Amino acid sequence: MTDRTSRPQQVMSNGSGGPDVVTGADRVVEEPADRALGYGRRAANQGVRVAQVPRKKQPTRARGKPAHVLAAEAERDRLAPFLPNSAVKKQVGIYDMARFRVAEVRKFALAGGFAAWTNSSTEIFVVPGLEEPANYDALRAALYHEFLHVDQFRTRAGGRPPSKYFTMIEYEVEAYRESAKWLRNPTDGGPPDESRAKEMDKGFRFAEQALSKKRSEKEYKELLVSHKPPYLPQHTGRITSLYCSKRPCELP
Ligand SMILES: [Zn+2]
Repeated sequence: MTDRTSRPQQVMSNGSGGPDVVTGADRVVEEPADRALGYGRRAANQGVRVAQVPRKKQPTRARGKPAHVLAAEAERDRLAPFLPNSAVKKQVGIYDMARFRVAEVRKFALAGGFAAWTNSSTEIFVVPGLEEPANYDALRAALYHEFLHVDQFRTRAGGRPPSKYFTMIEYEVEAYRESAKWLRNPTDGGPPDESRAKEMDKGFRFAEQALSKKRSEKEYKELLVSHKPPYLPQHTGRITSLYCSKRPCELP
């Protein structure tokens, strides 16, 4: 399950945002303008912070976590209090899409197909580039959306991803609708994100339209892969072939 609409921009860091310390005091400011400023500083800070981490850790670790995974972990922890089942959210592992075992999904995502993929109720894979400060809002929107899928998998399917395209599209109707609602009225102290909310609306309309008449599984698959741009990569197997079941799902 994914959020195609929050693809990171192919934009490099503009280098803005100094390493000033931002404390939790940001959260209590009253003025919307101040709130937005505080959020922006946190966003810029996060970019600076994650960019520095690999340099610090490389000498002591054979293989440090890549910056985009660290950035997504930090954003998971920041978002957790604003999501239902926040204790559960911190137990969801963030993994590197560049090492995702399922080649169709990995290649599609790395080519810009999407930013994140929820493989199960405990695993989210994210693409490189999300650590860039310019992509911070894409990361925020993508993770919020993916955590909706985490809840769907947990509460409806024993932690497993959908085994039918029909079910995936049903999940997407809800996830796109709720993502759009949250981006217009976010609860995390950050600014509304109308442009991404509009993209979520498109996903919602696509999914609702797809379900508006009864179709075969083959027809649902065709709608998902042939849409421009596609919601899923081309693949020869069934929907279950897009989810890694052989652990670990990160290739060595
Ligand atoms: Zn989704």
